[in-house]
Amino acid sequence: MDEKEIEDLLQKYYLKDMHYEDGKILGSMYTKPPEIALKAFFKFYQANLGNPGLYKGTVEIEREVVKFLLRLTSGKDDFFGHVVSGGTEANVIALWAAREMGYKRVLATQDAHFSIRKAANLLKLSLENVEIIKGRMSIEDLERKIKGGDIIVATAGTTPLGFIDPIEEIGKICEMHNCFLHVDAAFGGYVIPFLRELGYTNKKFGFDISAVRTITIDPHKMGMAPYPAGGIVSKENIFEKIEIEAPYLMVGKNEGLLGTRQSGSVAAAYAAQLYFGWDGYREIVKKCMENTNYLVKRAREENFEILEMPEMNIVNIKIKNVGKVKKELYARGWGISTNPKYSSLRIVVMPHVTKEIIDEFLGELKNIKKS
Ligand code: PLP
Repeated sequence: MDEKEIEDLLQKYYLKDMHYEDGKILGSMYTKPPEIALKAFFKFYQANLGNPGLYKGTVEIEREVVKFLLRLTSGKDDFFGHVVSGGTEANVIALWAAREMGYKRVLATQDAHFSIRKAANLLKLSLENVEIIKGRMSIEDLERKIKGGDIIVATAGTTPLGFIDPIEEIGKICEMHNCFLHVDAAFGGYVIPFLRELGYTNKKFGFDISAVRTITIDPHKMGMAPYPAGGIVSKENIFEKIEIEAPYLMVGKNEGLLGTRQSGSVAAAYAAQLYFGWDGYREIVKKCMENTNYLVKRAREENFEILEMPEMNIVNIKIKNVGKVKKELYARGWGISTNPKYSSLRIVVMPHVTKEIIDEFLGELKNIKKS
């Protein structure tokens, strides 16, 4: 086929997909990255940090991204980290390393991301659920269930509700029982530091809580980077616990989960971080929170019930027959997600979810309710 034919064919498929710039993807934790990040992606598409000896420049870039992740998580510059494919891989790596250190059982709430269940399953770690109170891990139930040698997974920005588990208190309990505390801040890691600066919260989630050993924090969510760009940072070198000999590679070993790693996205995450900077990310969070509050206010004006006041830019609207409404919205071109457990529509107020989009969406929802 010649290039034109290929382009035409690709375009046909492209038009079947949804795109962030259309504004109608309301249930996703991603958004359209800035052009400079996409340029960086293509410039570095050949880089493969699975074989870092060949890509010294990209190794340096990865360290710059990790340094920024450590700044967001109140870590120190000499802590450890990698940019990985996403939050799922980051969570698997953290739990794998903890298992190699001798920890055997995982305690997490049912609102922890499914990757925690997946990791426990893969690693043959037993998993016990800690009860949820008001959308957050119950301290009383944790105290009842915790045993020495457990891995506790706390979430800073839960997938369904965007709530922050009480990590400071969880940390104290972990220290009393010599447990391993992993914080999944895949989404909230790029939000909470700015919510603090903007006066929305004073909660901590990072290494300023002494029990925290590892944190998942993803540039490809609120870091505005194109995927695949998750992040895993740690206080001690967890990567040496899971490294494996790989004589055919330049450095002779592999210290993660994947072999070949698409690393254009590492350069892209760096470009996004340079483009926005700390203040730029704060502005993004400020805008997303303004739109979050706008959505809550407008939804209430239209007599919809908000499940709980959002803690970050994730809003849940309580709806009867939520599965049916989701299908109806989908048929009208909206990419919405639901929380069947809470009987709610879940809207992640990413930068592409503007006030205009919110108004259009609520109008559509009103029509569906009437019909
Ligand atoms: N952790 C949390 C809290 C998440 O919300 C998600 C995804 O939504 C993940 C982990 C998994 O991230 P990924 O889809 O990048 O693997």
